[in-house]
Amino acid sequence: MKFIRRKGLKPSEVSELQGRFGERANFSVVERYLYSRDMGEFPPLVSKLVGGPAHAVVQVQGEDELAWLMDFSLRHGIPLVPRAAATSGYGGSLPVRGGIIVDLTRLDRILEVDEKEARVRVEPGVIWWNLEKTLRSRGLALRAYPSSAPSSTIGGWVAEGGSGIGAYGYGGIRDVLLGLRVLTPRGALEVRGEDLDLYVGSEGILGFITEVEISVRPSLPDSPWLFSFPGPGEVQGFIDDITVIYPPQAGTQG
Ligand SMILES: Cc1cc2nc3c(=O)[nH]c(=O)nc-3n(C[C@H](O)[C@H](O)[C@H](O)COP(=O)(O)OP(=O)(O)OC[C@H]3O[C@@H](n4cnc5c(N)ncnc54)[C@H](O)[C@@H]3O)c2cc1C
Repeated sequence: MKFIRRKGLKPSEVSELQGRFGERANFSVVERYLYSRDMGEFPPLVSKLVGGPAHAVVQVQGEDELAWLMDFSLRHGIPLVPRAAATSGYGGSLPVRGGIIVDLTRLDRILEVDEKEARVRVEPGVIWWNLEKTLRSRGLALRAYPSSAPSSTIGGWVAEGGSGIGAYGYGGIRDVLLGLRVLTPRGALEVRGEDLDLYVGSEGILGFITEVEISVRPSLPDSPWLFSFPGPGEVQGFIDDITVIYPPQAGTQG
């Protein structure tokens, strides 16, 4: 199937989408432009590659709707672009050949919290901060999360292959990731073990992540510290000492 950029959707395609998604399929110019941006600002040379707004925005509520969209996409040759909170700023959620932006933020259920095994299974659109609040109320806490946690999603960080707060002790998303469910045009895959490497940082090109399982930790009170140093040399010495006393987690990425 070749996905060629075209001027717009045919009226029959619009009504098919409206019939399936109702008001959750949006074709307004304003919405299409708003959804065709992320947090970043590309230089003019690069922004030419992005190629204008999407033809439609669809908010999905379940894996069955994603499967329907994939079938629609293949039947009509219309690309799908997964988008979560669009905080990434690297262009992964921008349409390069028009098509349909698939807003995944409604997939925001926390499916399972296993206190005994310290692991949690969620839908991809769960916001990190909301998960942290739920975990804290159950005596658990996140190991690693991005500093965009108040607004970014778990699925987005997997697809970005991110590293962030907690990385020194626990590593990045790959190090805390236990499993994924990924919807592809050939059906849903349960991914575990080293196969996860393929999907971490895949930027949504291998399918829609529809479930994420991560390891968490027992909740301990946070104790912030403030240090001041006379100069950069002392900072370096301090960091060197810390890495000896508390060596970083083996897989630490950043
Ligand atoms: C203030 C700020 C602080 C930040 N701090 C950090 C940080 O500490 N560490 C860090 O790594 N990054 C950081 N970032 C970058 C960004 O927030 C993260 O990469 C974040 O994880 C992106 O999540 P999102 O929900 O916004 O995803 P989006 O930006 O919407 O999507 C990111 C990519 O994932 C794909 N995608 C999203 N959901 C799915 C899905 N369910 N299935 C398949 N593909 C999907 C999209 O197509 C896109 O390619 C920061 C950004 C900001 C603005």
